This record gives sequence, C-alpha cells and structure tokens, in this order.
Amino acid sequence: RKLPLDPSEESGVRLVKGACFSRVTPQPLNNPRFVAVSREALALLGLDADQVVNDPLGPQYLSGSKVMPGSEPAAHCYCGHQFGQFAGQLGDGAACYLGEVKAPLGQSSELLRENPSGRWELQVKGAGLTPYSRQADGRKVLRSSIREFLCSEAMFFLGVPTTRAGSVVTSDSRVLRDVHYSGHPRHERCSVVLRIAPTFLRFGSFEIFKRADEFTGRQGPSYGHDEIRGQMLDYVIEMFYPEIQQNHPDRVERNVAFFREVMHRTARLVAQWQCVGFCHGVLNTDNMSILGLTLDYGPYGFMDRFDPDFICNASDSSGRYSYQAQPAICRWNLLKLAEALAPELPAERAEAVMDEYLDLFNRFYLENMRKKLGLFIKEEPEDEMLITELLQTMHNTGADFTNTFRSLSLICCPTEAETEGEEDLRRTADLLLHQCASLEELKAANKPTMDPRELAMLLSLAQSNPSLFQMISDRVTIARQLDKLGKLKDLTETSQEELRAKQAEEWTSWITRYRKRLARELEGQSDEQAVKEERVRVMNSANPRVVLRNYIAQNAIEAAENGDFSEVQRVLRVLEKPFSSQPGLELPARVSGHGTTAQMERD
Ligand code: AMP
Ligand code: MG
Ligand code: MG
Repeated sequence: RKLPLDPSEESGVRLVKGACFSRVTPQPLNNPRFVAVSREALALLGLDADQVVNDPLGPQYLSGSKVMPGSEPAAHCYCGHQFGQFAGQLGDGAACYLGEVKAPLGQSSELLRENPSGRWELQVKGAGLTPYSRQADGRKVLRSSIREFLCSEAMFFLGVPTTRAGSVVTSDSRVLRDVHYSGHPRHERCSVVLRIAPTFLRFGSFEIFKRADEFTGRQGPSYGHDEIRGQMLDYVIEMFYPEIQQNHPDRVERNVAFFREVMHRTARLVAQWQCVGFCHGVLNTDNMSILGLTLDYGPYGFMDRFDPDFICNASDSSGRYSYQAQPAICRWNLLKLAEALAPELPAERAEAVMDEYLDLFNRFYLENMRKKLGLFIKEEPEDEMLITELLQTMHNTGADFTNTFRSLSLICCPTEAETEGEEDLRRTADLLLHQCASLEELKAANKPTMDPRELAMLLSLAQSNPSLFQMISDRVTIARQLDKLGKLKDLTETSQEELRAKQAEEWTSWITRYRKRLARELEGQSDEQAVKEERVRVMNSANPRVVLRNYIAQNAIEAAENGDFSEVQRVLRVLEKPFSSQPGLELPARVSGHGTTAQMERD
C-alpha cells in the first residue's frame, strides 16, 4: 500500500488536484490495545467507556484497524503557512476522518451551544499513509499519542476550547523513529489517538483555494475553484455558526460576521492559553481551528518557571512561536485566513474586523487575569500594571507560573493583624518564595544555548558590519542570548543568600501593592467576610493546581513504553479535576525539569 509519488512532484509532495478530501483506508494495527480511554470524551459519542474497554473489538474500531459500518474514511487536503511561509499543499498526512456521529439525545444545552451541528467528527491520528503523507509514514508513536491524548483532555477540563481525545491505542506494529534525546533511531510502537471535534476544518482548509500564481513554483491543488470555496464557507457557517447564517441574509455581511466571530474566538482562545501558561509550539495556519479550538498537540508545553520567551518547540530557533508571541501570531494567522477568504470577504471589511483584535484580546486576558488575582468587584485602570508587575516579579525571581497563581489565594485574605506588620509580610512572601528558583536553577536557566565563541563572533560582526549581520543572523535570538549572558554574569556575582533576600524584597513589595488593591475591593461592601470567601472561590476556579507539565507526561510515557499504562490513566484522572484541592491528587512541580520538548517526535 505504498503510494508512489510522481517523479515530477518536488520534495515528495503529492499534489492532489481539485480535491478537498481523498478517500483512504486506515492501515490496520497489529494487536491493537487500549492504553487509556477518556470516559467523558467517549460519552459525547454515546459510548460507555467500560463497555468499550471490555469489548475485544473496541481497540480495533477506535484505532481504525476495523472500519465501522457506514464509515467512509477520508483524508483532508489543506494548505498552510508554516513558520511564516506559504507552504502550499499539506493535508492530513497521518490523520484520517472516520465520519460523523450524531450526538446522542439529551446532550446538555451548553454542549449544543458549543457544537450546534449536533454531531461529532471522528478522526484516527496515526492510522497510516494518505495521499498527503509526503515522505513520512502516516504513523504516530506512543509518546506523541499519549501527549496528544492527555493534553486534549487536560485542556478541556481547564475550560480551554479544544479538540477532544476519546482513546489512545498502542500495538505491536512498529516504525523507525529518530529519538532526539538519545540520538539513536529505534523501532517504536505504532499508536493511534481517536480525536473528536465538531469539525477539524482549519484556516488552512480555505487556503487551498488560493489562486494558482500564489502557489509559487508549484501548482495549487484546487485553484480556481471559487465555487467549492463558497460551498465550504456555506457548510462551515450553516453547520457551526447557524445564528450567523440566520441573522444575515446578505452574503457579504454574513461572511464578515463569520470572520468577526472566528477572530473573537481566536482572541479568547489565545488569552486563555496565556492565562494557563500554555505554549502551542506550532501555530501554523493549518493548526488554527476554524472553530477557535486548540488543535494539533505536538511540541506544546506548559511553562514551569515563568519566562515570556518560553519556547517549547525545539525546532523553533527564532522563537516565532514563543509564549509571548502567541497573541500576535494568532493575529497574523487571522490575516492569512482573511486573505484566503477573499473575495468572499472584502479586504477592507476584514481589515476593520482585525482592528478590533488587540483590544479584544486584552479584554479577555484582563478579565481572566483579574479572576486569577481575585479582583471581581471593581475594575481599575491600574490593574493592568499590577498584573504586569506580578509577571515581572515572577520572571525576575524564577517563580513557577502555575504554583504562584495558585498560592495567591493563600495571601489574598489577610487577617487584621497581618495587613500591616513587617513580620507577617515576610511570612506571606515566604509562601511565594518557595516557588522561586534557586541560584543554581537560575544559572542553568540563563545559560546561553549558543556557543560563546559563536556569540562573540556575531557580536563583533554586528559592530563592524551591521547590514551583513542583519542578513545572516536572527537578531531576536542573539538579543535573547545576550540578555541571558548578562543575567548569568550578575548571578555569578551573587550568593544564594543575597539572591533569596532580593527575591523576598521583590515579592514583599508586590504583595504590599496587591493587598492595597484587595482592600479597595472591599470598600463599600457590607459583608466583607462573604466577599473574601467568594474571592477565594473565584481564584481557585481560575488558577489550576495542576497542569500537564512536561515531566508528568514524560513519566507516563516512559511507564507506558515499559508496558505499564496505569500512570497515563492516573494522570488523566488528576487532570480531569485541575482545580480540585483534594489531597491525593498530586502532580507536583519540578522546576528543574524546565525545558523544551526536544524529545518529542518530529515528523
Ligand atoms: P504539523 O506540524 O503537526 O501540523 O504537521 C505538518 C504536516 O505534516 C501536516 O500535513 C501533517 O499531516 C503532516 N504529518 C505530520 N506527521 C506525519 C506523519 N507521521 N506522517 C505523515 N504526515 C505527517
Ligand atoms: Mg497539523
Ligand atoms: Mg501535528
């Protein structure tokens, strides 16, 4: 079942012209078996997890090894901008649609609001070759499948819009993979995730309709098919945005309203990512859901220590998809969507919609951040500054993102005695200080990743020949390296005690400001105690106690690779209650485990 490439097709890209979907047959796995299932995700389909797990055909069907009656598997042809460049045709290279399942009757009205189509698309990811596999094999291995499975569900339970994962299946089929951290290729078990979403259509789904001359050097697969673009647009709006369809008899107005809604959802999504310290890692336009869902879990990462420059994707050398770049990158991706929707969407109308993006993102971000700080009664213009200073303090002191926010509820309701005294302030600061990095950890975090000689050479080049320097080097990377070098120098001249004293000073000064703000929150409130209780409740439902830290996924993966699936299942159970303070649900921070996800599969 090899799909030979036409020798005229460059770099292994098979062009499938004039198509949005290609029928495919998922490749069966050898001895498929469940690693884990998500009870809640399977329930969306009307499936009972226990029944599925106990059915010998369960892993066969849910991995695409057996095709369900009525299913017509297909791979989707899409395009995309990858790392800022239009990459032409891509498509489902490893994923394949199984079809759609009608949502069982009695699904909650909230769910139906989120998915007005009333049915769920099913995909098996890792089910083998498709016409879009290029030179890869269409397979996924245990580590990438477990990462996608766990994070899809973790995000859902954090309240972040996402595609879902019903199960992860492993097998005795194997493929050769380069393991980055060991440097030795090895045969790994083929694994398949069952993905579930109202639709997997993405920005890139509309980019296949670009004009032929926009596919530089290559022919586009579907150029000139204005009619099909119109049909796909109709389909998406009618199925997933029915209110917009109903409220806008004029086609252009309808399209503008649709684009505004996608912009709106995307701005809200990225604000939510920022507020849980999530970095997607590959924000190419083909990984941007047309429904504003988190889509395609690859080299993603949750931050441990707060670092605005956090880069989770080891191959993102310029930091294009770093944590702090995400809001602007999503904006850029929306511009690309607007281009792909022309002429259905007039450019000047799209521009006007995009003018709203930044304010909207800021609004969502601030709204969310205020909750995280327990500020839910008043809005003050200075709140933005308070948040910025918190993040700055976290960065300076190497504080753990998740744990710092979670700890704020311990210091947000001081007793009378605590509000003034130096002593109490110190004790309070200690609560936050133990989330901060030690001298050794900060030194390790600020070690430039670039060879010092190379850095020195680039520096002298920058001084002697700025224009040549600009041409050959990535200035963002260099700036980051220099910044680290400077910090490292400061740290070498500091002792652990001096560092702790400085960290304590930074935290007490922020806490003092924070407490003044909290006190203003109480002004004019008759029942202060009730407000304080509500405050803690609001904070603890906005600041998760656990997120899927890299080392947690890694532990579960290593156990599963050794045949023990219980850790994957345990981690899922904990992640299903990320805001719970139930003892026993522990997935502690391990600040020293901070790093990129270099060990993750690269295709
Ligand atoms: P991503 O960076 O994960 O969005 O993937 C970029 C492109 O590579 C998409 O067209 C994928 O379908 C394709 N791809 C990813 N993994 C594989 C694989 N194992 N086999 C074939 N194609 C793949
Ligand atoms: Mg993708
Ligand atoms: Mg991917």
